[in-house]
Amino acid sequence: MLMGEFELIERFFCSSAKRSDVVLGIGDDAALINPPEHHQLVVTTDTLVEGIHFFADIPPKALGHKALAVNLSDLAAMGAEPRWVTLAITLPSARLEWLEHFCQGFFELAEYYNVTLVGGDTTRGPLSITVTAHGVVPDGQAIRRDQGQIGDWVYVTGSLGGSALALRHLQGIQKLSGLTLEQALNRHYFPHPRVLSGYGLRGIANSCIDISDGLWADLQHICERSGCAARLNTELLPLDPQVKEHCDPTLATELALCGGEDYELCFTVPEATKGALDVALSYSGIHFCCVGQLIPGNGQVHLFRDGEPYHLNRNQSWDHFS
Ligand code: ADP
Ligand code: MG
Repeated sequence: MLMGEFELIERFFCSSAKRSDVVLGIGDDAALINPPEHHQLVVTTDTLVEGIHFFADIPPKALGHKALAVNLSDLAAMGAEPRWVTLAITLPSARLEWLEHFCQGFFELAEYYNVTLVGGDTTRGPLSITVTAHGVVPDGQAIRRDQGQIGDWVYVTGSLGGSALALRHLQGIQKLSGLTLEQALNRHYFPHPRVLSGYGLRGIANSCIDISDGLWADLQHICERSGCAARLNTELLPLDPQVKEHCDPTLATELALCGGEDYELCFTVPEATKGALDVALSYSGIHFCCVGQLIPGNGQVHLFRDGEPYHLNRNQSWDHFS
């Protein structure tokens, strides 16, 4: 069944809960927001395109969740508190059941973090979703990519490689089944942005990035921007349990380093604040571990395994234009 653009906006996007700092949300030419005093606005956008970022048969609930999650993950990596989002959605047709599930995934996550949808755009065309997320951070406390210091310890939250394992299944490269498949798909479709970890790292981490392209490539971004290099000890990588169980050690390392879409945080901490990490991250309930150190250099990330240089025969990560 097809329905008009305005009917569709009214039915699916207007009804969500509204934060009290939203003066005017959906329905006018633009949204009006009262940002808090003594805070900086943190803004990010990510687009998901069918055939590039997801397959056509992706469960719509997963797409709704993921479109928001990848943006909240960017805010988390800045140490920001997410508050307001816009959603630009291009749909081939208005399939009501599909949209219901999409909204379920989107709004469940939005409500969990008290994020309000304040506007957007709805058009017809090949399926594509663009979310812009706005957050706030106390003046001067954002965690950037370019403030890593030589000597900082390199940490990651959670575990790595699980999302890439699911992708191997979806691409028909490795067949998974049962609970293994379920858990891997869950990692792939429903990433949890590390929002609380991001808050906890303010004042403790010198630099931070979220792992969307794979740890190897994303840590390299920190190194390039911070004017240093890194030593990465691959035997210390926190492998996803399913990856550990179902991949040989070489493949497991590859997925953890280059797989991407884990949406964990990679951050660097100076010796002086290292001791405060346990307390700072305890209330986020997320496991974290040290995998290396920043060293002098020009943006390289040197891989080691048990103290010896380690080589991988593959590209560092996924790059749309390479
Ligand atoms: P305009 O023509 O002024 O851009 P639109 O007709 O595109 O207005 O949108 C009407 C209202 O609905 C606006 O407030 C807009 O922000 C909101 N809106 C449109 N699409 C979406 C969407 N997918 N999600 C949330 N709000 C939307
Ligand atoms: Mg418009």
